[in-house]
Amino acid sequence: MKNHLFDALLADRRQDERAFIHLADGSQWSYKTTLALSAQIAHVLLANGVQPGDRVAVQIEKSPQALALYFACVRAGAVMLPLNTAYTAKELEYFIGDATPTVIIVDAAREPEIKDISQDAVVLSLNADGSGSLSSSAAEQPSDFTSVARTADDLAAILYTSGTTGRSKGAMLSHANLLSNAQVLVKYWQFTRQDVLLHALPIFHTHGLFVATNVTLAAGSAMIFLPRFDAEQCVALLPRATTMMGVPTFYTRLLALPSFTKELASCLRLFISGSAPLLTETHIEFEQRTGQRILERYGMTETNMNTSNPHDGERRAGTVGFPLPGVDLRVCDPSSGEQLAQGEIGVIEVRGPNVFQGYWRMPEKTAEELRQDGYFITGDLGLIDADGYVHIVGRGKDLIISGGFNVYPKEVETVIDAIEGVLESAVIGLPHKDFGEGVVAVVVCQAGVHLQEPEIIAALTDQLARFKQPKRVIIVEELPRNTMGKVQKNLLREQHTNLFNRDNGRDNGRDNG
Ligand code: AMP
Repeated sequence: MKNHLFDALLADRRQDERAFIHLADGSQWSYKTTLALSAQIAHVLLANGVQPGDRVAVQIEKSPQALALYFACVRAGAVMLPLNTAYTAKELEYFIGDATPTVIIVDAAREPEIKDISQDAVVLSLNADGSGSLSSSAAEQPSDFTSVARTADDLAAILYTSGTTGRSKGAMLSHANLLSNAQVLVKYWQFTRQDVLLHALPIFHTHGLFVATNVTLAAGSAMIFLPRFDAEQCVALLPRATTMMGVPTFYTRLLALPSFTKELASCLRLFISGSAPLLTETHIEFEQRTGQRILERYGMTETNMNTSNPHDGERRAGTVGFPLPGVDLRVCDPSSGEQLAQGEIGVIEVRGPNVFQGYWRMPEKTAEELRQDGYFITGDLGLIDADGYVHIVGRGKDLIISGGFNVYPKEVETVIDAIEGVLESAVIGLPHKDFGEGVVAVVVCQAGVHLQEPEIIAALTDQLARFKQPKRVIIVEELPRNTMGKVQKNLLREQHTNLFNRDNGRDNGRDNG
């Protein structure tokens, strides 16, 4: 029977004995073995009542068996619901209530607490080492499976957004959303069967699950599959890889190791970064160290990948490159929705086969963010430069409005980051009695450097218009980041929300003029 995603990515690999997954201990899983296990798991899903379109919620550690489970969901016509391994039982209760899965698969240690909140779902276990009730049931099943019919528009997965504001929303991704993006990326990044991808990303997020894994499948290549990122381990394994995908933190951590040399990096043909902004400084330092430029791309849970720097052309630091083939991208005025002229900053909107089907059981939210003409309002602020490169200048919700002036955090961060001795910064807006919001910079100094607030304020005086200059600077050891390397500005805002009240409005005597 026709199954859109399985037929295109996996059907031909059922007898393929080449390596698909290499593990750090030197063992490997062929395509054939992984797919045989996925057939067995698909039988288990059906035996536990999974019907086409039913959700299968999954909160498990990264393992080859976990990938076989992903393929099993596709084959069984189920909608996979990957969940961050850090979520507590309390958080899971919301996702289970919202998505009403038929089957929930968790680590055996969590089974008792999940059973309390599972409603009518069957709870099965899959542990990091591959053991658990799912695997023991699978072992008794045949290793072939007739795919459940699925069309291009049927759902393959629901990925909940990280939900830093309001309730987390379930982004519905169809078979065609996933397949089209994988096929475009394989060509754009020139993946071939010879490639070996160093995969150290989590697989509950679109980056590790769909970008990295589906590109590997579409190319018929292999990956080195690591449970988590460890810079020293990566250095040891790089000679076995040809490409790497990572969040920016992976690259800063590699650069911190003297053992990450030009010679070592030359084993790889391509380093790709995404999910959070790559600092220009990191881009430059990486090129100085290795002679190679990191390729930065931009995407999100709802849209898969939207833009990428080119494989062959100039990879420009501080930009996320060009819209991918088939993706339409425009920059619009946040309030009127009118398309803006080239060079102007506004909200980025995208349209294409990659764009999701809407938010699960949230028709109103879907209507707010997906326009009639098919464009999705990403909420990212950006511009398109004269050469067509897309620049991201922040999230809409991070935009600061101080005394009626718009302040784009990225612009201020770029100037602060260029001050000698500064490693990085996060610029936020905090409640301020005169200005509505006051600009505040949270700054991390380079190792061994101890800059103080007045020095940083002084260094910015001639660099930025008065209203953009931070009224306060807070020096910290490090910025809070989530697993995907994104700076959690919401946490910084919560932590310092009373800064201006507490200081009776002390703000270095700066007005906004
Ligand atoms: P997520 O849905 O968790 O993948 O988060 C998507 C968001 O991450 C986007 O809307 C952007 O705000 C941000 N993002 C992803 N890639 C980049 C990038 N290369 N540069 C800047 N921000 C990025």
